[in-house]
Amino acid sequence: MDTVVVTVGKEVLSGKTVNTNLRDIAILLSAIGLEIKKSFVIDDDIEEYHKILDIIDEELVIFTGGLGPTVDDLTREAVYQYYQLETYIDENVLTNIREYFDRRNQRMTNANLKQAMFPIGSRILENHLGTAPGVCIDVNEQHIILLPGPPREMRPMLEKVIEYLKDKVGLNIYSEGFKLVGTGESAMEEKLEGFYEQHPNVRIAPYASLGEIKYIFTSTNFDDLKSAKDAFYDHFKEYVYGSINDTLEEVVVSLLRESEATVSTAESCTGGLLASNITSVPGASSVFKEGLITYSNEAKMKYLNVSEHTLKTEGAVSEACVIEMAKNLAKQTNATYTIAISGIAGPSGGTKEKPVGLVYFGLCYDGKVYVERQVFNGNRTMVQSRAAIYALNMLRKVLIYA
Ligand code: ATP
Ligand code: MG
Repeated sequence: MDTVVVTVGKEVLSGKTVNTNLRDIAILLSAIGLEIKKSFVIDDDIEEYHKILDIIDEELVIFTGGLGPTVDDLTREAVYQYYQLETYIDENVLTNIREYFDRRNQRMTNANLKQAMFPIGSRILENHLGTAPGVCIDVNEQHIILLPGPPREMRPMLEKVIEYLKDKVGLNIYSEGFKLVGTGESAMEEKLEGFYEQHPNVRIAPYASLGEIKYIFTSTNFDDLKSAKDAFYDHFKEYVYGSINDTLEEVVVSLLRESEATVSTAESCTGGLLASNITSVPGASSVFKEGLITYSNEAKMKYLNVSEHTLKTEGAVSEACVIEMAKNLAKQTNATYTIAISGIAGPSGGTKEKPVGLVYFGLCYDGKVYVERQVFNGNRTMVQSRAAIYALNMLRKVLIYA
C-alpha cells in the first residue's frame, strides 16, 4: 500500500521543532511492512493543504499537526472541506473535552467545538493527554489519518492506528509487550543503545507513565517479534512485571494467591493508597487482611506500639519507625507479609537531612524486616503514587525471589 506522510506546521518548517513525528510514524510503518514513498512538510495555510491534496493519490495518507482549537489549526477543516465530508458532533468526545477543562479549572471555549467534529463513518482516536482526538477516514479509495502535533499525544494514538489498519487493510500485525517497574525511561534508553538496530523489523515503542514504563513491540513477522521480545526480557527481566494488559496490583495479588500468602499494610504518608491499590483488584479479599492509616505519631503508638523513644530520637520518617510498624503489624494481623510506609509527601515538612519525597519502607516477612529508603521526585500526589508503586514492587520482588 503506497503511503504518504504530511507534517504540518511553521515550527517544523523553520527547524525550531525537529520532526520526530515523521520518525515515529516511519518506524511504525516500516515495522508493519509499509514503506513511505514520499513525505511533505507544509505550512498551516489552507491553500497549501489543497495543493498537497491535489497531488496525493496514495492509498494511505497520514497527517500530523494542526488539530488544535485555534484558528491557525486547520488540518481538520482543510481535509473535511477538500473531500466535502459530511460531519457530526460526537457527544462523547465533547464530554471528554469538557471534563479535560473541568479538571484544570478552565472554561471550554467554542473553539474547542470543532475538535469534536468528525466525518460520518470515521473512526475516532481518543486523546487522553490533550483535547484533540485523531481520526481515521475512509474516502474514495483512500484511508486518511489525522493525528495531533504534540508527540506525547500523537505517539499513543499510533497503537490505535495499528488496530485500524489491521481492520481496514487486513494487515497481519502482531503487537505485544511488557510493563516495567523500578527503572526510568532515560535509564532504559541508555541500556537499549544498539538494541533497536538489532531488531530492524520490529517497532519497539516506550510509553512512560508515573512509576512505570510500557514497551510495545509491533511487527508483521511473528518470529522477529518473538526474538526481539525474548532478547528484551533476557536483559530486563528484573524490571518486567507483566505484559501490556497487566497492572502491578493484579500481578502482586495473583502472586500472593499462588503462594497462598496474605498481606497487611500500615501507611503514613500514602494515606491508604497502597491498600486502595491492592483492594482495587477483584478477589483481593483472599490475600489482603487489613490496612491501617497511622498518620499521626499518636496513631503509630496507639495502633502499632511504635515506641515514644523511637519517635523522639529518630522521628516518624526513619528506618527504626518503619521496622517497628511492620513488625508490630505482623504480630497483630498474622499476615504473611506486612508493609509499613512512612515519608514526607510535601510540599512542606522537608529538611536537609530529610528532604521532601523521602520515604522509608519496611517489609516484614518471616520475622525479619527489610528496609528501603527512597527519595521520590514530584509533587505531593506524585510522591504518594510513586511510594505506593514502590511498595507494591518490593512485595512483588520478595514474592518472586525470596
Ligand atoms: P495543539 O493543540 O498543541 O495546537 P496541534 O495538533 O494543532 O496541537 P501543532 O499546533 O501542529 O499541533 O503542534 C503543536 C506542538 O507539537 C508544536 O509546537 C511542536 O512542539 C509539536 N509538534 C508538532 N509537529 C511536530 C512534529 N512533526 N514533530 C515533533 N513535534 C511536533
Ligand atoms: Mg496547533
